[in-house]
Amino acid sequence: MRKGSDCVQQAALAVVGGGASGLAAALAASRRAGFRPGSVVLLEKNPRVGKKLLLTGNGRCNLTNRNAGDRARYHGDTEARAVLDRFPPEQILRLFQKAGLLCRELDGGRIYPYSLQASSVLNILRRNLDRSGVRVLCDFDVNRIEKSKDGFRLSSPAGALFARRVVLAAGGSACPRTGSDGGGFSLAGKLGHTLRPVYPSLVQVKTDPARVRSLKGVRCPALVSFRAGGKTVRTATGEVQFADGALSGICVFELSRCFGELHAPKDAEIVLDLFPEYETEQLIELLRTAACGETGISAPQLLEGFLPKALGAELSKYALGVTQTKTGLRKTEEFQKLARAAKEYRFPVRGTFSWDRAQVTAGGVPLSELTENLESKKCRGLYLCGELLDVDGDCGGFNLHWAWASGLTAGKAAAESL
Ligand SMILES: Cc1cc2nc3c(=O)[nH]c(=O)nc-3n(C[C@H](O)[C@H](O)[C@H](O)COP(=O)(O)OP(=O)(O)OC[C@H]3O[C@@H](n4cnc5c(N)ncnc54)[C@H](O)[C@@H]3O)c2cc1C
Repeated sequence: MRKGSDCVQQAALAVVGGGASGLAAALAASRRAGFRPGSVVLLEKNPRVGKKLLLTGNGRCNLTNRNAGDRARYHGDTEARAVLDRFPPEQILRLFQKAGLLCRELDGGRIYPYSLQASSVLNILRRNLDRSGVRVLCDFDVNRIEKSKDGFRLSSPAGALFARRVVLAAGGSACPRTGSDGGGFSLAGKLGHTLRPVYPSLVQVKTDPARVRSLKGVRCPALVSFRAGGKTVRTATGEVQFADGALSGICVFELSRCFGELHAPKDAEIVLDLFPEYETEQLIELLRTAACGETGISAPQLLEGFLPKALGAELSKYALGVTQTKTGLRKTEEFQKLARAAKEYRFPVRGTFSWDRAQVTAGGVPLSELTENLESKKCRGLYLCGELLDVDGDCGGFNLHWAWASGLTAGKAAAESL
């Protein structure tokens, strides 16, 4: 890999950003018949490409999902359909296999490298970039892109480059320490694009710290709902994790985008159904049966047989008040209150954590400003892909799937237009 100071002055095609979508775009572009080695240049501001990729899936890289063709797993722009249809998950898997990566499927259709190491994915991509003659310029922070009659001048403190086509793959604003700090949005804006409001997604949801203080570290399966304006906006099922002043876990992550989507509603709540398999009446019966024969059993003691101990204690306080949790359960009404609270355990939403903790950016450049091949309608010869666009997916490999699919589409189309 060359350093930015050793800058190439001319290229047929430049890809800005060496993340998932940029790596895919550069590889797809380099396959164009007739391109000489070095015709495609990948520009990355970091000293190495793929910094975020190494963090994905807790270092294991959940690179796609068996259900990645399901439109319901994506949010934002519905016009993403055409790109997703072109690259179903089987196609992405075939491409990785051809590139030399064996994959395996785990729960929920999640697909990982067989090694369960994100570095395998990155190393395979880098090896293929080398083989395909893609020139990688690292430490090349593109701060200006100017359109001229024949192409684009890309400037950075490390030097300038002229390219006839540009694929902008600079990512969104999530996890800025990996390089995607929202700068791509400014570059797209200066080339004529608008921006739908951006907000963090797949991120922890803040709540009243006092409500979760004693629950820190507790995990519990639940049916989770995001409610606002008196309505259930979205639901998800999975393991809720209680954190410092926050609710976490994949199911909560998947609901987090509702907060930004609804413009930070004041009355937003996360509501947990801790016993989704049982109706309230059944749960009352189960509690009564469990209490049977034990006179004076308190709610926290009773719930020890139902929930993690700390959660049972906190839920008892929530349902019955502090004083009543200390006395024995006697009245039917107390069992009813306990069961109802367990089926509807409400937490106020005080916002989400910010970009540094978010996995994904919701919002971005609308797809209506691009052709089906992701060429800009505002600035011909410019292509956009990845998280920069107004498409984000659920947890489970959907975001990387979008990055590969959109990167392959943009890179191939940009190269073929030459
Ligand atoms: C911790 C974490 C875990 C995740 N896990 C998963 C997972 O398991 N599965 C999944 O599907 N998704 C996961 N995601 C989301 C997924 O990683 C992203 O959606 C995806 O990487 C986006 O790809 P991208 O190419 O659009 O942007 P990025 O991967 O952010 O890449 C953008 C690149 O452009 C470079 N760049 C930016 N501006 C410039 C510039 N001006 N000049 C030069 N270079 C520039 C950046 O340095 C960066 O390398 C995870 C995200 C995070 C943060």
